[in-house]
Amino acid sequence: MAPKTGEMLHLRGNALNPGEPIALPLTQSSMYHLPGAPDGLPTYGRVDNATWEHLEHLLAHLEGAPCLTFPSGMGAISAALFATVKAGTRLLIPSDGYYVTRVLADRFLSGLGVSVTERPTTAFDEGGFDGFDVVFLESPSNPGLDMMDLPAIASAVRAAGGLTIADNTTMTPLGQRPLDLGVDVVVSSDTKAMGGHSDLLMGHVTSRNAQIMDRVEEWRRVSGAIPGPHEAWLLHRGLETLDVRFDRMCSSAQIIAERLADHATVRTIRYPGLPGDPSHALAQAQTARFGFLLSITLDSEAKAEAFINSCPMLRPATSFGGVHSSAERRARWGDDVDPAFIRISVGCEPVEELWQALEASLNAL
Ligand SMILES: *Cc1c(COP(=O)(O)O)cnc(C)c1O
Repeated sequence: MAPKTGEMLHLRGNALNPGEPIALPLTQSSMYHLPGAPDGLPTYGRVDNATWEHLEHLLAHLEGAPCLTFPSGMGAISAALFATVKAGTRLLIPSDGYYVTRVLADRFLSGLGVSVTERPTTAFDEGGFDGFDVVFLESPSNPGLDMMDLPAIASAVRAAGGLTIADNTTMTPLGQRPLDLGVDVVVSSDTKAMGGHSDLLMGHVTSRNAQIMDRVEEWRRVSGAIPGPHEAWLLHRGLETLDVRFDRMCSSAQIIAERLADHATVRTIRYPGLPGDPSHALAQAQTARFGFLLSITLDSEAKAEAFINSCPMLRPATSFGGVHSSAERRARWGDDVDPAFIRISVGCEPVEELWQALEASLNAL
């Protein structure tokens, strides 16, 4: 069910006592006043922090499930994986999704006896999950924007005795709700649109499986991969405007994508909201919005660089989901894409102002 973001904005207010601040206080303390028996009290900063708890309360409202926060998206992905794999586990991951997840699997998990198999995003819909204990999903994939049939895959993996983990970073819980589609565990980099202001790194794990969440919590406590209270406070603040930001970003992305598709300088375009896009049917079936990420390919690497670096409304930067539109050539990081392939993250600028800047820079190439 879609989260009620109005209710979310008043979650804290409706639980306040007279005289308490409306805005969330920042609890920046490693120690707590703890005389005598510590039963039920906050004990130590690695275990308890009121600012995380308020943030997790808000996130749980958005996700419709308990949430645990981490100091980055990779912190959340590591927690979800270390909580669910052991020596002998067979793990399936996409070969064309967020690349650091693959590095984690290859460089660390496989050395601990986890057998890692990679498969292209578009091949997941063909099934073949027998023998896999954990299947890691990402839809739409970053940066290719290919989608997976999440309900079909989640039920096929479950029928084969496995567990699914989905990376929902690109869509946020307002755009797609993998838990409602049958996925067991969802991970997110809240560094992106969730925070939205390019000023923090964080991530979260959510699941309706209490055993898994207990294990994720234990991992956080024992590994020490805890979020900083200040980042938690910033993310809490960012989430209060997620609905307006995400709405603006997705609406603008649709308009920009349609116009880019008609522009003579653009060789190819991917945006799940375009009727001709390979991801369109799946996006219509399982997402609430088509997202704020799109990609274009120009004629050459030089033109792509000139476009990114000359447009006054594109920040040439890696990462995405901020209020400022940004863009980059993914080939510069070794992604298996055309050298002239550009991922564009549509921000919160008024759409006509943004389009004029994009069009002028394309026309000048
Ligand atoms: C950025 C990103 C991550 C990693 O998040 P960090 O906050 O940078 O650790 C994971 N998955 C996807 C899809 C991402 O875009």
